[in-house]
Amino acid sequence: MRLAVVGAAGRMGRAIIAAAALDGDVSIGAAVVGAHELGLELDALAIVPVNAAGPAVADADVVVDFSSPTGFDQALALAVAAGRPLVSGTTGLAASQLAALDEAATQIPVLWAANFSAGVNVLEHLVELASRALGGFDVEVMEAHHRRKVDAPSGTALVLGEAAARGRDRKLADIATWARSGVTGPRTNEEIGFQVVRGGSIVGEHTVMLCGDGELIELTHRAQDRAIFARGAVRAAKWLADRPPSRYTMKDVLFGAPS
Ligand code: NAD
Repeated sequence: MRLAVVGAAGRMGRAIIAAAALDGDVSIGAAVVGAHELGLELDALAIVPVNAAGPAVADADVVVDFSSPTGFDQALALAVAAGRPLVSGTTGLAASQLAALDEAATQIPVLWAANFSAGVNVLEHLVELASRALGGFDVEVMEAHHRRKVDAPSGTALVLGEAAARGRDRKLADIATWARSGVTGPRTNEEIGFQVVRGGSIVGEHTVMLCGDGELIELTHRAQDRAIFARGAVRAAKWLADRPPSRYTMKDVLFGAPS
């Protein structure tokens, strides 16, 4: 199976290429990078077949995108135009971009996930369960990432916040407290607070605290190597390759989806 990797020159793009190299069933058909990465003064994508005789995006079996919100738009357009499945892990997307995924899912199989690690997908379940069972506890979501990350809170922190909100039968947007500073007044039990750390080379750490009176639960995931995301994305691409058009999730890959 051949992948077209959008954002191939980035940290995750390179991790995907490395993960594919370790997987006997997968190879790289096309590496798509920003034109600026080739030193070209173009506001455009460069589509770079891996070797001169190799296939480009239209001949790849699955398009895999870990780039930027702009790169995501271009990856989605490429996948739809080529009629190929799309796996995307790009975060910081607008609601309209997630809606565009739903629209594309009528034509191609699409799988977008804020986090491709098995551990975080299990953590999401645990957070919903704990939030529901411990309604009187205050929920805080903390995340830490490397200094170059451009969006905050992380897509994974948002997913965990949504899981906690689901446990309270609420929508995250209605109860999230994104930052605190100055005289904030006392905390309400219904809010879900977010704390963000940026620094160094931290791959990604997420903790959901459930704070009761006299007791505290901390549910933590620490990514130690971005290979976990890359392996998950390659696994998702293999799983998605033969699926009918629809919107899928990483939970479908890990825990099974209706066929
Ligand atoms: P990065 O900055 O190292 O790499 C992004 C690459 O995409 C860069 O090389 C950049 O030049 C390229 N790019 C940007 N716009 C482009 C475009 N229009 N066309 C082609 N290439 C383009 O970032 P990263 O750490 O690799 O992360 C990439 C994305 O993946 C981010 O949104 C990040 O949050 C997300 N991410 C998701 C997961 C997950 O499991 N879902 C895990 C890690 C990172």
